Amino acid sequence: MFDTLQDRLAATFKSLRSKGRLTDADIDATAREIRIALLEADVNLSVVKEFVSRIKERASGAELSRALNPSQQIIKIVNDELVSILGGETRLLRYAKQPPTIIMLAGLQGAGKTTLAGKLGAWLKEQGHSPLLVAADLQRPQAVEQLRVMAERAKAGIYAPQPGNGVGDPIQVAQNSIDYAKHHLFDVVIIDTAGRLGVDTEMMRQAQMIKALTKPDETLFVVDAMIGQDAVNTALAFEQGVGIDGVVLTKLDGDARGGAALSIARVIGKPIMFASNGEKLTDFDIFHPDRMASRILG
Ligand code: GDP
Repeated sequence: MFDTLQDRLAATFKSLRSKGRLTDADIDATAREIRIALLEADVNLSVVKEFVSRIKERASGAELSRALNPSQQIIKIVNDELVSILGGETRLLRYAKQPPTIIMLAGLQGAGKTTLAGKLGAWLKEQGHSPLLVAADLQRPQAVEQLRVMAERAKAGIYAPQPGNGVGDPIQVAQNSIDYAKHHLFDVVIIDTAGRLGVDTEMMRQAQMIKALTKPDETLFVVDAMIGQDAVNTALAFEQGVGIDGVVLTKLDGDARGGAALSIARVIGKPIMFASNGEKLTDFDIFHPDRMASRILG
C-alpha cells in the first residue's frame, strides 16, 4: 500500500538533496508536491490543507536543525506530521477493571467484522486472555456459522443463538452473553453486530440498543480501507449515530492508495487501534502511527 505516495514523496525529497539551504521557493515547490501526492492518495481535502500548511509553517520557521540537510529536515517534518494525522500515540485496548472487558464491533456488511472478531480473539488468546465471541449478527444467514468457524480457529469461546437464548433477537443475544461470559470465566467479550450494505436507521438503532444494554468498554468501528473516503464518511455516521472509541482498518493489503488510513483519525478525532491486512487469522496487528509513517517514508 501507499505505493504512489511513497514514490512521489521520495522524488520530492530527492530533489532537495542538492540544496545547501531551503529558500521560500523551495518550500513552496515542496509543499505543492506533497499536496499533489496526498490528493492522489485520496486523502481528505481538509486534512491535506492542514497538513501542507503545517509543513510550510514548520519548514520556514526557526525550528530547523542545523545538523540536518534540507532534505532531512523536510523528511523529519513530514514524518512528524504523518504521525500526527495518523493519530499520534499508539492507542492500546482498554481493559475493564472488573472483567469481562466488553468489545463491540460495528460497521457495514462486508467490512470484515466477523473475520476481525476471530483475529482479535486469536490475538487476545496470545496475550493470555480468554475471549468469547458473540454472534449478534443475525442479518447475514452465514454470519453465525462463520463466527463459529472463527472461534474454533482462534480457540476462543462462542456464544451463538440457539433455542432459549434469544433466537432472532441480536439485542437479547448480546445482553445474555455477558452473564454467560461471567459464569464461564471469559474475560473478554467480543460482540459481532450486524451491518448493512449502507448506513441505515435500523442498523444504527440495533447498534445503539446493543451498546446501551451491554455498555462496552470499547466500541470499535470496523471499516474496509479500500473504500477510501467512503470509509471516513461512514465512520462519521457511526460516530454520530452510535459513538465509537476507535477504528479498525481492514483490507489494507488491497488498499494501494491509503486515503482512508491517512484521513480517518484526523477527521473523526478517534484513533485507529488495529489494522488487518489479509484473510488469515494472523494478518492483524495493533496500529502504530509512527511505524506506519516510517513505512510511508520508506
Ligand atoms: P462482515 O460482513 O463485516 O462480518 O465481513 P466479513 O468478516 O464476512 O468479511 C468480508 C470479506 O472480507 C470476507 O471474504 C473476508 O475474508 C474478507 N476480509 C476480511 N478482512 C480482510 C483483510 O484484511 N484483507 C482481505 N484481503 N480480506 C479480508
